[in-house]
Amino acid sequence: MTRLRVCVLGSTGSIGVNTLDVMARHPGRYEVFALTAQHRVEELAQQCLTWRPRYAVLPDALRAEQLRLRLEGSGVTVLCGAAALEEVASHPEVDAVMAAIVGAAGLPPCLAAARAGKRLLLANKEALVVGGALFMSAVEAGGATLLPIDSEHSAIFQCLPEERERWPATIDHILLTASGGPFRTREPLSLRDVTPAEAVAHPNWVMGRKISVDSATMMNKALEVRAARGLFDLEPAPIRVVIHPQSIIHSMVVCCDHSVLAQLGTPDMRVPIAYGLSWPQRVISGAEQLDFMRLSALTFEPADPLRFPGLQLAWETLSARPGSTAVLNAANEVAVEAFLSGALRFDQIHAVNLHTVEQALPEAGEAESLEGLLALDARARSVAGARVKALAP
Ligand code: NAD
Ligand code: MG
Repeated sequence: MTRLRVCVLGSTGSIGVNTLDVMARHPGRYEVFALTAQHRVEELAQQCLTWRPRYAVLPDALRAEQLRLRLEGSGVTVLCGAAALEEVASHPEVDAVMAAIVGAAGLPPCLAAARAGKRLLLANKEALVVGGALFMSAVEAGGATLLPIDSEHSAIFQCLPEERERWPATIDHILLTASGGPFRTREPLSLRDVTPAEAVAHPNWVMGRKISVDSATMMNKALEVRAARGLFDLEPAPIRVVIHPQSIIHSMVVCCDHSVLAQLGTPDMRVPIAYGLSWPQRVISGAEQLDFMRLSALTFEPADPLRFPGLQLAWETLSARPGSTAVLNAANEVAVEAFLSGALRFDQIHAVNLHTVEQALPEAGEAESLEGLLALDARARSVAGARVKALAP
């Protein structure tokens, strides 16, 4: 069997590390072609020495030089800059790309991989939220195989028939489950006092800082709703969100005959990662088995719109003009970054998002090209940044 050559974008992050963990369990099936990161030079160097990829990529020249010195004689070629991400993601010798960069920064390499017809393992939901129809048409034009890695999207994908043509007739609606994050029962008025450490302490999942804050505001679910619409070709109506605090059911498909299919498992991203890597087969992931004898009750509740106003805003942008969800995503990235650095209160993240969605309106046709989307993203970031400054304590 020839080994699948994998490019891991964002290899030092939570998803990247879990991806390498799964791959290490199957040395006969997978090899690393390229690894990329943003800051953590030493971690990337260690990964390179273990995996001996053809390429390693860092965005800035200084860090790339540090990595070059560290990897002298190892046979790894160090590249630098955003264009190099696109180059490795679309390289003719790459079979699969794990898209695990956080935020809209992951869009250009995702598009490059899609256009080059790769097996594209999409953890980076923001790329699809921003890229929208442009992203999905690149997948189609390039003949890429898009495999969702987000646990909810993977759950839905695992519940659906293998032939995509059967999806529309099969699905009545989709139920995306959400844990409700760390503040599901916290007194809403006290949300203004939330610290970054509290916000990133997710009750069930260990994840990167940005997605952890998004889980606390439920913006993560909003982004997942938008991404699900692209992935499963659904209009907004057939997607519903339900809070399921135990994070055991990862999402459900309600079929046209009202049979409900669900995917269950311990909250461990190695399960969807292993499925993406091995699809349509399955391989050992390293995740613990679910022990039904020790499982507490599985409970469900609606999302409280007052506690989680971002969810409502996301529904509104879904039906607004194309590009609106890209604006919301950019605002949210700026607001979360500001919150994590102490420049914004937790409850002000929504204020920044709302203001930006109202002020930075997409122009006609802007969402139809990468250049247009990047310009829109930049405009939204500048509006959001100004709002953060205005709200600064
Ligand atoms: P993380 O912050 O732990 O890691 C992000 C990775 O991307 C790092 O390797 C970082 O160096 C790199 N990176 C960040 N900004 C970059 C930039 N501008 N240019 C190039 N590289 C950059 O994040 P994560 O939790 O692993 O999440 C990655 C993606 O997967 C996100 O889109 C997130 O929403 C999604 N996701 C994560 C989980 C999870 O359990 N962590 C679950 C579902 C979906
Ligand atoms: Mg998820």
